[in-house]
Parts: sequence; structure tokens; C-alpha cells
Amino acid sequence: MTTSHTAATRTLAEAAVAASTCTKCRLSAGRTQVVYGTGNPGADLMFIGEGPGYHEDKQGIPFVGAAGQLLNKMLEEIGIRREDVYIANVILCRPPGNRDPLPDEIESCKPWLEEKLLLIDPAVIVTLGNFATRFVLDRQVAISRVRGERFSVNGRVVIPTFHPAAILHGGGMASKQMESLRADFAEVRRALDERPQPAEEQLGLF
Ligand code: URA
Repeated sequence: MTTSHTAATRTLAEAAVAASTCTKCRLSAGRTQVVYGTGNPGADLMFIGEGPGYHEDKQGIPFVGAAGQLLNKMLEEIGIRREDVYIANVILCRPPGNRDPLPDEIESCKPWLEEKLLLIDPAVIVTLGNFATRFVLDRQVAISRVRGERFSVNGRVVIPTFHPAAILHGGGMASKQMESLRADFAEVRRALDERPQPAEEQLGLF
């Protein structure tokens, strides 16, 4: 992701309406609906996953299936309400059979996510899994090597972590990966807590 901050020209709600009829790639033919994203449009914290699965495609909301339940649990553990963050994916439409998104599909969808990032302007981004991490860092990294680290991208803190579905399909709740996920969410909490608070900024004026 190489775009730097530029002026936003429409609201997030307007962008979501425009996205709802997108036919830029083949995935539009098989979707029930576009899954644009959900949450607080002014969130300080944004999560980016891979793409909608079966339940997300049916409901039009990201992370509502099993992986979403684990994401909710992790948020709860660090004392953050789901409605206070923004949750989105690299691609807006469910690939057939939940296959991985193809490079040209990711490329077609790129402007939607870039615009979303400009409009929400989060201080901290958590990338869930390889696809989101590679998209945001613009590097072919392996999630297992970069998870839990802080990166700076266009003035935002980016913290990659495992995709919750990888925990569910891999090691499970007692696994080493789950321990890492917990540690990474604790790092997210720290990154948020270290942000300058508006009150502190104001105090600096006097
Ligand atoms: N997995 C994702 O990457 N995104 C979702 O919205 C759901 C599952």
C-alpha cells in the first residue's frame, strides 16, 4: 500500500453505497452482497482481514463467523468494544469456496481499501494474516516472522498478527499461535494507550 494521505472527497457511507454495485472483478458475479466494512467511521483502531467468508457474504458484515467470534473475544480481553473499532477486509466480495483472493482481484479492490483508510484515518491498524499484512506493508513478508512487531506506514502504526481463522484451523485455543495472538493484542492495547490524548495535546497549548 503506497498511497499517502490526500483529501477525502466523500463520506464513508457514500463510499459504501458506491462499492455496493462494484463489478470491477469476477468476484462480483458470485457474491450475495459486497461486504464493505463495519464499525466506527472515526475509529482509532482498524482491523483488516482477508475477505468475506460464507456468513459474511450472507450478512454483509465482516467477521461474523467463527473467526469473528475469536476476534470479538480478543477485543474483549484487551477491553475494547467491537463497535468502537472499524473492521474491513482486503477484498469486498467472497471468493468461491473461500479460496484465496487472486492478485488481480486484490488489485481491483485496492482503491476501496485505500479510500477507506483515508476516510477513517486510524492511528493503529492490525493486519490479520498474510494477505492483509502484505497489502498494507507492500512487502511479501510471512506473518509468522513479522507478527507482533510495530511498523510505521504513512504515519500509522501497523501491527500484523495471525488471522483468527488460522488459529481455529491450526493449533487451537491452547496453541503457541494462540499465545502469540494474545501477546499481539496486548501490544495493540499498548500502542493505543501510547497515543497522545486530545486533552494532553490541548494542555500543551497553555
Ligand atoms: N475472514 C476474513 O478474513 N474476513 C472476514 O470477514 C471473515 C473471515
